This record gives sequence, structure tokens and C-alpha cells, in this order.
Amino acid sequence: MALKERMNDVETRINDACIRSGRSTDDVHVVAVTKYVSLEMTAQVLNHGLLHIGENRWQNAEEKWNALGHEGIWHFIGHLQTNKVKDIINKFQYIHSLDRFSLAQELEKKASQLDIEIKAFVQVNISGEDTKYGLAPENVASFLNEIKDFNHIQVVGLMTMAPFEGHPEDTRPVFRGLRELRDEINRQSLTREPITELSMGMSNDFEVAIEEGSTWIRLGSILVGKEEG
Ligand SMILES: *Cc1c(COP(=O)(O)O)cnc(C)c1O
Repeated sequence: MALKERMNDVETRINDACIRSGRSTDDVHVVAVTKYVSLEMTAQVLNHGLLHIGENRWQNAEEKWNALGHEGIWHFIGHLQTNKVKDIINKFQYIHSLDRFSLAQELEKKASQLDIEIKAFVQVNISGEDTKYGLAPENVASFLNEIKDFNHIQVVGLMTMAPFEGHPEDTRPVFRGLRELRDEINRQSLTREPITELSMGMSNDFEVAIEEGSTWIRLGSILVGKEEG
């Protein structure tokens, strides 16, 4: 299928999920995850009007960013080593994988040196799988408190990854758990500003994630495809 057709197909499915859950499509943003595809395909993605580009490793993103970075809004969605912060800090506007204090310290330091602000999602391991990164839900409140004075990190929301399920419906408790955690954080005013965003849902499970309140879905294979090599 060509990119345009895949975009139309995804758009229809987003619309339907919004209708089912009484939500507005304006509140659901798509990050086109280009980690599996070439520079050429990434350029096409931008040319087709998709603005948000997601990459999970700087080594893979570098060539694309150098060619196209002035065009899109770039989201770092993978595990970020502290020593890689310097590479991505003034290139990626969003990081979806803020999961520890040492990383927050380094982001704050580098962003303050450049006098910029980076938007961050705190990654939470709702499912409890030990293969997944992210803070345990019970540690999120104290983490937010520790980074509350980091003025160059704007915490916009929470991110999670659900286990891959043969039946996407089985991911629902994970997404619901993240939404409930966000609402609890806001009830307790644990951040400088209330957090509104939920980064959750991938190719296999984005419709369930939308039904549970996702505001950023991260779509790779189903939207931009997957190239070999
Ligand atoms: C690769 C990746 C995605 C996209 O995966 P698909 O299943 O291809 O949509 C989304 N989020 C993260 C964190 C990823 O690493």
C-alpha cells in the first residue's frame, strides 16, 4: 500500500475510535515513527503533511535529522542514554522516555546551557513487564517532586508501552492505568502545570489507546511501513 492510502486508512480508524469514545480527533496527534525506514521515505512522510517524526536511536536518526530536521517536529521515543543527551538536545523538541533522575539532571543541564526548553513525557511501566523501561507507577509522584524545579524540562504528560497482545483489547487495562495515574497526579498537583498528554498506542493497539484517552499515538509499521535492512 502506498503511504497516502495507509494515511487514509489510519485516519479512518482514528476517527472511528474517537466516535466510539466521544472524543475529538483534534485531541489525538500522530507521531510517525520512521525508525524502520530510509531517509527518502522519511522525506515523503513530511511531504505528505505528517509533521511529527519519531525516532528511537540517535545513530539511526542522525542522517535523517541532518537532512530534514528543519522541517518536522522531532520526538525521541526510545531509551535515552545520559551521554546521548548532548546529541539530541537541540534537535528533538519532545522526549517520550524520561524515566530516571540522572537523565532529568542531564536534560536540565544541557537545556539550560542552550537556554531552551524540552517537552517531556515521563515513561511509566504500567504493565510491570521487566523487559520494559519506565518508572514503576508508585515511584512517579516522588520522581515528579524531585524534578519539579527543573525549569528547562516541561513535563507535558506520561508515556507507556503495552505488551504486544494478539488481541489488542487485552492492552486496555494498561492504557486505562496510565490515564488514571495522570488524573491522580493532577488531583494532587504534583507538577508545575496540570499534565494533559498521554503518549500511548502503537500500530497494534492504537484504537484501544485512543478509547482510553491517548493524545499521542506513535505509529511505525502500519503508517510509514517497514523496510528491510
Ligand atoms: C518502534 C516504536 C513505535 C512504533 O512501533 P509500531 O508497532 O511499528 O507502530 C512506537 N513507540 C516506540 C517507543 C517504539 O520504539
